[in-house]
Amino acid sequence: MMIAHPGSEVRVLIRSRPTANFAQELIEYLPDGQTVSVHQRKDSRKGVVNNQLSSWSFRLDGVLHDVSQEEVYGRVGRGVVLGALEGYNGTVMCFGQTGAGKTYTMTGATENYKQRGIIPRALQEVFHEVEQRSDHAFSVHLSFLEIYNETLVDLLASVRGCPGVGPGGMAVVEEAGGGVSVRGLSLHPVHSEEAALNLLFEGEMNRIIGAHALNKNSSRSHCILTVHIESRSRTLSDAKYVTSKLNLVDLAGSERLGKTGSEGQVLKEAMYINKSLSFLEQAILALADRRRDHVPFRQTKLTHALKDSLGGNCNTVLVANIYGEASQIEETLSTLRFASRMKCVQMDPVVNEHTDPVLQVRKLEKEIQLLKQELSIHNTLANRMGMSYDTLSETQVAEIQSQVRRYLEGSLDEINIVSIRQIQEVFAQFKQAVQQQEQKVKAQLCQNYTLVEKAQSTAGSTAAKSQGSQGTVGVVEGHGFGVGLAVPSDRHIRLLSPGRTKAIKTKELASQGRKEAVEGRSPGPGKQVESVNPVQRDREGREHDTQSQEPQGPQEPLRTEYTHTYVPLYNICPVYYMCYSMHRDNMSDLVFLPSSSPPPKAEAFEDFKAERGSEINRILKENKVVLLERRARLRELTECVNTAKREIDSTSTALHQWRDKRQSQGQFVSAEGVPVLDEAELSLTLRLRELKTQYRQQYEELRGTKAEVSYCQHLVDQCRTRLLTEFESWYNESFLLPEEVQAMLRSGGPIRPGLVPVYKALALEEDEQEHFERLRYELLADSPSAISFYNAQYRTVQRVSLVQTNTLSLWVMNE
Ligand code: ADP
Ligand code: MG
Repeated sequence: MMIAHPGSEVRVLIRSRPTANFAQELIEYLPDGQTVSVHQRKDSRKGVVNNQLSSWSFRLDGVLHDVSQEEVYGRVGRGVVLGALEGYNGTVMCFGQTGAGKTYTMTGATENYKQRGIIPRALQEVFHEVEQRSDHAFSVHLSFLEIYNETLVDLLASVRGCPGVGPGGMAVVEEAGGGVSVRGLSLHPVHSEEAALNLLFEGEMNRIIGAHALNKNSSRSHCILTVHIESRSRTLSDAKYVTSKLNLVDLAGSERLGKTGSEGQVLKEAMYINKSLSFLEQAILALADRRRDHVPFRQTKLTHALKDSLGGNCNTVLVANIYGEASQIEETLSTLRFASRMKCVQMDPVVNEHTDPVLQVRKLEKEIQLLKQELSIHNTLANRMGMSYDTLSETQVAEIQSQVRRYLEGSLDEINIVSIRQIQEVFAQFKQAVQQQEQKVKAQLCQNYTLVEKAQSTAGSTAAKSQGSQGTVGVVEGHGFGVGLAVPSDRHIRLLSPGRTKAIKTKELASQGRKEAVEGRSPGPGKQVESVNPVQRDREGREHDTQSQEPQGPQEPLRTEYTHTYVPLYNICPVYYMCYSMHRDNMSDLVFLPSSSPPPKAEAFEDFKAERGSEINRILKENKVVLLERRARLRELTECVNTAKREIDSTSTALHQWRDKRQSQGQFVSAEGVPVLDEAELSLTLRLRELKTQYRQQYEELRGTKAEVSYCQHLVDQCRTRLLTEFESWYNESFLLPEEVQAMLRSGGPIRPGLVPVYKALALEEDEQEHFERLRYELLADSPSAISFYNAQYRTVQRVSLVQTNTLSLWVMNE
């Protein structure tokens, strides 16, 4: 059998029509039976003598010279036909100039049985094989297509019972899987060689009638007889079946326009023929070039209809028919050139195997039945009775759901594995539980916070950066739990409590000061750290005239230390991390706080203030009240001092003016000749003296009040630190320490709760403060006016330590 191997080339054979005037001196068949040499001495068309001898050699797959029709079929057709019966597409195609013997080769002399061509022999072989291969059920259909001047003609449309062409007419259409078919082309089932031959003759007849009716020559149309074969195994109850198409193609004559001197209708035909043949050649060349992924099949009906019959998934054999007379040498050369180009086309024929879905389902059902039986035998042997492998019932699903719930709650230790279906359902229930939990937490968070997706809060992120977080602030190391400025991370959440959003608009100046504090830059002398408290302005104010002190605005609220909170979600709790990993892609940036994790710090802090920290919190509040009251007084005094100063200035100006005026009028003297003050000057002078006294008194009081404000501020800061430190210890002990450590800290345990961590923390604070106090009083002894500077410095130092050790400024500062 001559079935092409994958990657082999299209087979091309030469057949020459017998003639008494064979140009022996021009055409030479070499003894290898494959090579043709063509020698040309003159340009026969132009009649110009060309003394230079030109020779061409064409090596193809065989030369059929003086060969019987039977042998031609054996060498050209048989392999393709047998391949088609196995499920490989096949094409046998003749081309060459008109009269070279294409029709003779394909169809043969219909009146002579011995001279019948490839098509009747192929049909005979198909049915012979169908009979032989009784293990397969074959179904054979025939179609016969003619392409004339780019028009598709169904040569079997006249057959009785033919449905006729639909409204859309005939067209080449692409099929799923890369094949093509001709819409509207009738397919005729055939069961015998005779029936097939009848259709062939009917088609041939129609071709001739059509040619007469249209005054056309039948050799100016392309003809494709297709045998559609489907085969299923009778022995294997297999859902698989194979199909194939066997195309037997008689192409129109390939002679060129110039030679025939055609005009009118003939010229038009010749143009169409040339066009389709040249596109056939282009398609063939594209097929031959493996680097090209586009083959221009659709350019003409011929190439489009032959799309799945040229190279590719197809056994293709071409016969190049030549007419070996000297006068035809140009056409012969042209045909041989075309033939050698065709030879380059690669073929990868594969069996067209399909699966019958209905049979497939039936087959699989049988297999499942068998496997269930196998399993039940296996279970009996393994003492596992009563197993079911059917889809889980609703009751079973509900039972699994309840198991998973109890497992999550802790009331069920483990879930026994029973079957694959059960395992799958357990996982499904877990997934559902996680999703529900996500939804719940999201809803809760939305109630308490304004959640801003990271992408929407670029400004917020920038703010976070400008706050100077270097990845340490705000994270309680070792616990992976922290609220405050946190490690820069690709997944953040921005929590803004409703009451806090306003505070974000804190003046830039304040945040600038904060930034410096956070970065640990110690403010140099004269460097303004706090812009809010009048006390901090004191030093500057004192260095200049009191008048230059700007009038203080209304009491500004205490600045929020931190208004934004960035929390890497998976730092908040390990459970979230699990969920985050599982739902990395679809989980939005939300905090996940399951009930078993530590309570949110903000909440815990409220509880702490109400209970354990109530005393210190009360003191803090009282101190704050005093601080506010003292500040208000300070503002009042500043206002008075400023007013007094302004009055002093205006009075002294008036006095000077008066004196100047008096001077220009001459000296005012008494009766004794002693210069005296007039009444107005006297009154101005007295007023000025009075104002100065008042100013000095108020200024003294201002200084005193400033000192008080600063002292109160210390107390408040100190209380705040203490409250936060104690809270941190309490929180760590209560929620973050492992069970065993908590047990040790409980009453009766070896360690008194709260004592160690709080004491440690406070000891540090107190040491620092004592040191500062001592320093301050030493300094103040020399220069009482330095108090504001040292106050500011102290607070900055304190704030840095606060920021570093404390993550709770957020709530406290908002108090
Ligand atoms: P084409 O289809 O290429 O135009 P035909 O098949 O019609 O050419 O052949 C033209 C003539 O030559 C026909 O009369 C045909 O019988 C004859 N002929 C062609 N090839 C052979 C051959 N190998 N043996 C005998 N006669 C042939
Ligand atoms: Mg012909």
